[in-house]
Amino acid sequence: MNKFIFVSGGVCSSLGKGVAASSIGALLESRGLNVRMMKCDPYINVDAGTMSPYQHGEVYVTDDGAETDLDLGNYARFTKGRLTQANSITTGQVYESVIRKEREGQYLGRCVQVIPHITDEIKNRIQAVAKEENDTDVIIIEIGGTVGDIESIPFLEAARQMIHECGKTNVLSVHLTLIPEVGGGELKTKPTQHSVKSMQEIGIQPDILICRAPVMLDEPTLRKISLFTNVDLDAVFSSPDINTTIYEEPIIFFDQKLDQIILRKMGVECRHAEMRPWNSVMERFNARQGKVRIGIVGKYMELHDAYKSLYEALFHASLECGVEAELVKIDSSTLEELDNADAVLNGINGILVPGGYGMRGINGMLKAAAWARVNKIPYFGISLGMQIMVIDWARNILNWSDADSTEFNPGTKHPVVSLLEEQVNVTNYGGSMRLGAFETVIEDETLIWAAYGEKQIWERHRHRYEFSNQYRQEMASSGLKLAAFNSARTLVECVEWPGHPWGVGVQFQPEFKSKPTAASPLFRDFVAIVKKCIH
Ligand code: GLN
Repeated sequence: MNKFIFVSGGVCSSLGKGVAASSIGALLESRGLNVRMMKCDPYINVDAGTMSPYQHGEVYVTDDGAETDLDLGNYARFTKGRLTQANSITTGQVYESVIRKEREGQYLGRCVQVIPHITDEIKNRIQAVAKEENDTDVIIIEIGGTVGDIESIPFLEAARQMIHECGKTNVLSVHLTLIPEVGGGELKTKPTQHSVKSMQEIGIQPDILICRAPVMLDEPTLRKISLFTNVDLDAVFSSPDINTTIYEEPIIFFDQKLDQIILRKMGVECRHAEMRPWNSVMERFNARQGKVRIGIVGKYMELHDAYKSLYEALFHASLECGVEAELVKIDSSTLEELDNADAVLNGINGILVPGGYGMRGINGMLKAAAWARVNKIPYFGISLGMQIMVIDWARNILNWSDADSTEFNPGTKHPVVSLLEEQVNVTNYGGSMRLGAFETVIEDETLIWAAYGEKQIWERHRHRYEFSNQYRQEMASSGLKLAAFNSARTLVECVEWPGHPWGVGVQFQPEFKSKPTAASPLFRDFVAIVKKCIH
């Protein structure tokens, strides 16, 4: 029988529920269990694909092309379980399919209601993930939002029903709350008491509490929380602020025996914990020496979450290269007015231009790319960042001053980046880009080949525009290296600068597959060359 763990949050948002859920997943995997992670998002958007990165952070892409909430990226970095479209549920999806079934007459004339029809749809989707692979032991379901929100009620009600139907040893409730510090450092438990009361009103008694606080909670505080919330004393845990890295969280929970308590409550035998991978992440974190300064020249710089996977991938690479990577976030529009990019870029050891959509800031990215090319500074272009390399090459090496992407200038005489053929008739903007994992075939003697060490790779994509095939010949004969293609060789997947220490642009987004225990090869080689160039 599968076990289910629902992870909910209280008091306020941004407490690190995704990292806590992922850390629990990592710990259960370290005990040899097969874990699948899921996210329930209470918003009405069908998926995260149409949401602004400013408001909601990055859109994470799965192998099967789902555009999901960024928490799936956390799951992918902490755990091994497969993540697909099915692992991300939104209110929009649930209603969409219930309404479709109603139109098809599947409810046989009954009045269609939140309970049981919406809650059944939620439970069926969770059970479908549980049944997808026959060796799944535990499904961890993170419920987005905060208890008390109107939107999350159907998901919490579905959790309550599952606890009732499957029994308390098969379905656990983990609740994450905040213990704020007020006045002279006094920790306040009242918001946690209220948060647990809200859960109890819905009919869920949390089995485990994780209390986010500035410090580890002391015994009297834990006792007080336990007394007021009906949660066993040994099931109240601290989640102190971490000043190292989020990847220490599994170790912090392990030291408090969180995994042992979960296994005991679920009646699962407690096997040896293999914590070496996590300990080794921390050893490498502490062993880093020196610093490199990497300039990220992008569009959505104010919100860290907008490029979450990218920043994480650079961090993973820094662990592998034994050097600290200082991320210098540069809003590309600040470069646009400057005659000389030096004023802003001086002292930067490597440039990364990440993915992005729309015209704003493009000229600033072009300036950064030209600066890196001319000054022989390592450059890594991802998706839009590769398209920028192509436009820069056309304008400055081939001297086609009007060269552009048709995304920014539909009427250009030199459309060196243009709409993918399959996109020409697309009118519906949700889920319609070139999405998900595709095979890329790598040419010999290229930097991308050196990075991956293999000829065939699978990376994930999310774009509508592409290197224009009509310019392949002129680009290649002027020296731009076309280093990788899709398997049908109809699309250029990677370009490289000749006679340059390391200038690589890829149409895919390798950051989605990077892990703290295994950095993405291109990120690793980029940070390695940046380090080599300055030392
Ligand atoms: N805007 C570009 C496109 O749609 C680049 C997309 C991206 O950077 N992921 O092709």
